[in-house]
Amino acid sequence: MPELPEVEHTRRNLDRWTRGARIVRVVTTDARIVRPLRPSAFVARLEGRTVRALDRRGKWLRLALDGAGKLFIHLGMTGWFERAGAGGPRNPLLSARADRARPLRFERVRFELERRARSSVVVYVDPRRWGRMVLSDEDIAPWMTLGPDPLADGIDVDVLSSALARRSRRAVKEALMDQRVLAGIGNIQATEALWKAGIDPRSRSGTIDRARAGDLARALRWSIRRTLADLAKGDRADDDPFIAYGHDGEPCPRCGARFTKVELGGRTTTFCPRCQTRAGMGPSGGA
Ligand SMILES: [Zn+2]
Repeated sequence: MPELPEVEHTRRNLDRWTRGARIVRVVTTDARIVRPLRPSAFVARLEGRTVRALDRRGKWLRLALDGAGKLFIHLGMTGWFERAGAGGPRNPLLSARADRARPLRFERVRFELERRARSSVVVYVDPRRWGRMVLSDEDIAPWMTLGPDPLADGIDVDVLSSALARRSRRAVKEALMDQRVLAGIGNIQATEALWKAGIDPRSRSGTIDRARAGDLARALRWSIRRTLADLAKGDRADDDPFIAYGHDGEPCPRCGARFTKVELGGRTTTFCPRCQTRAGMGPSGGA
């Protein structure tokens, strides 16, 4: 599932591909992704508009269009964008050619764009169709209720510390994945950051003091930047750039103990039982 780094990587791609471009034609028949608008209304409201700016908060993208509209995009569990038929001089037959081009497998929305007399096609692909595209003149509620974004806003240790204190009885891993605490942190980034910070994911949030919150903030920045750097390698990106996430049963590179897993809030969490400790307890967690 895309988390902050994957969505930021998508934002950077879409910024290069679409900023300043006019949306010439939109093709979608997917009523689920563009709800509550009907596909025909979604298309009619987008065609002819120009993409002015792209930003991101947590796992949401926001494309500002000329005039008042904004297009909010969430990649759901399996969404991504691809560029097809890029570049080339403007050709009045583009639309016809794009029509004839075979749609990509699981293609849901196709944007035909024109920028400085060059045309291109950007396609949204989403096998499981959990993604959303919401057209609105105002910022939508899911965007407004998100907490600070670790990249766009930075992580203020005092703010993080008090957000954890307000959720004192919850496991720190679950609190970190609460989008009101920090926007965009999911299972992968929380697992990696807690390993880096040496904190047992089952620790109650209320036991994380300011110093440990500082460790956690640094660890989150480390993990996000590491994943982003890997994604930036494009085709050469590592399928598995993670240290703890998905590595249960393998040795911890820091202490050699085997990673183990536990279920927290319905999600499988991998951690090192030796070097990820609970606050105020010895190594091994004291459980
Ligand atoms: Zn370890």
